[in-house]
Amino acid sequence: MIGDNLQGVISRIARAAAAAGRPPGSVRLLAVSKTHPPARIAEAYGAGQRAFGENYVQEALEKMETLAALLGREGAGALEWHLIGPLQSNKTRAAAERFDWVQSVDREKIARRLSEQRPAALAPLNVLIEVNLSGEPSKSGIAAEAAAGLAHAVAALPRLRLRGLMSIPAPSSDKAEQRAAFRAVRELFERLRAEGLELDTLSMGMSDDMEAAIEEGATMVRIGTAIFGPREKVRSAA
Ligand SMILES: *Cc1c(COP(=O)(O)O)cnc(C)c1O
Repeated sequence: MIGDNLQGVISRIARAAAAAGRPPGSVRLLAVSKTHPPARIAEAYGAGQRAFGENYVQEALEKMETLAALLGREGAGALEWHLIGPLQSNKTRAAAERFDWVQSVDREKIARRLSEQRPAALAPLNVLIEVNLSGEPSKSGIAAEAAAGLAHAVAALPRLRLRGLMSIPAPSSDKAEQRAAFRAVRELFERLRAEGLELDTLSMGMSDDMEAAIEEGATMVRIGTAIFGPREKVRSAA
């Protein structure tokens, strides 16, 4: 069933890319597995999916352990882990050691810690800056005005590789509104590139708005519900 859902999502991505005149391989799929048990991740792996997104460090570490047992060393080693939830300073070491990407960097202090704590034996940690263009103060993400300063500071850190931007616009059922929010993120992305930053990743779009995001230039969509079904009750962020 997860295999069918994955195929459905891959078709939606391909259709949206074609409608936007973009090549089919230009949008990566991140499967968001938060709250879902490791067995479901193993099922998605069996259907060909390799990149997974988790919101909570502790929950992700537990799943990595279980998957090492379920898939064996080689299978588990083929997985690519993205942290997409807010990151507190006391969790940066685990994030720097165990993840391949951190998409939720919104403060220089967190970026510095990730750079300092990234093990020398591993490739630099891929990071995205999370931007909050709707200006809701309670939400995570850095405001548009401050994003360029943070991006240049992060790009200079030795053990990080700044790849681009991530955004979670306020949900809307209106396609024009969805597109306008994604367009603002893409314009910021293009501005940073024009300033000389070598960025290749624009992470935006979820189960309900991936088409609008792809039409506005997303290179990675983060899809949970459309692959794994409704989430189980959210556990604490411990
Ligand atoms: C949960 C989550 C998603 C996936 O959302 P769906 O609507 O289930 O596809 C994507 N991005 C982030 C940051 C999330 O927290």
